[in-house]
Amino acid sequence: RPRLRRPDGTRVMVVANQKGGVGKTTTTVNLAAALTQLGQSVLVVDLDPQGNASTALSVDHHRGTPSTYDLLVNGATLEEVVTDSPEVEGLAVVPATIDLAGAEIELVSVVARESRLQKALAAHPRVGSAEEAGEDRFDYVLIDCPPSLGLLTLNALVAGVEMLIPIQAEYYALEGLGQLLETVEMVRKHLNQRLEVSTILITMYDARTRLAAGVAQEVRDHFGDTVLRTAIPRSVRVSEAPSYGQTVMTYDPGSSGALSYLEAAREMAGKGVGA
Ligand code: ADP
Ligand code: MG
Repeated sequence: RPRLRRPDGTRVMVVANQKGGVGKTTTTVNLAAALTQLGQSVLVVDLDPQGNASTALSVDHHRGTPSTYDLLVNGATLEEVVTDSPEVEGLAVVPATIDLAGAEIELVSVVARESRLQKALAAHPRVGSAEEAGEDRFDYVLIDCPPSLGLLTLNALVAGVEMLIPIQAEYYALEGLGQLLETVEMVRKHLNQRLEVSTILITMYDARTRLAAGVAQEVRDHFGDTVLRTAIPRSVRVSEAPSYGQTVMTYDPGSSGALSYLEAAREMAGKGVGA
């Protein structure tokens, strides 16, 4: 495959939407795999206690595995918790264990509790501009958030520069987005001025229904160029892949799901401004 040009520095992208089941995890792992196939160096940070991204990338995440919990709560460094995905060659992952479920509460009494992830990323030698981090730098860090706006997602919003919001093409698609955008505003004002919603991706698009087309149009009217032209189709192959510990990029590379994630990755890279 033709390699994409690398961004000038690490793009830290937060995949968030407090609604569950909209395609955050599916988007994180498949975009990560697609970007890796296109020659980019990628790190996935699993911030959901369910560990679905870890599972989809075949990364061990039983209790006691070095994980995002250690990073946030125990002060571990990123080097200490990062591992390679056995599924996607060249993809680095920080897995999430179920311990992370307790972190929302444990973090409440911790100093600078909302900037733990930001500090850990900033301290890593492979995160930063080309001058700071050199040739070995990560081009993308994709952070998979849990379906809530608690301290875990807040850590991601403070650590990130760009936000990628997956929106499922169904009836209640825009419900809850107001609250999400208010949270982004609050974070910008008080914690992280650089944060911006750079990318919106329509997921589980069913071209046969008028409803999906209507919802997609509404999202585009509302968010303009922020919305990627590529929508991810609803496809059984996409939903089957994780049960084989695979991304759809290797499970069925020729499928509409895999091709759409590749196209979305290219579009995203084309819009890249660098961190
Ligand atoms: P979230 O992380 O936002 O909770 P997931 O990525 O886990 O959402 O997706 C929710 C469910 O929808 C999963 O069962 C997943 O396999 C399925 N799914 C996601 N994207 C697609 C798609 N494009 N086509 C079919 N099923 C999908
Ligand atoms: Mg998820």
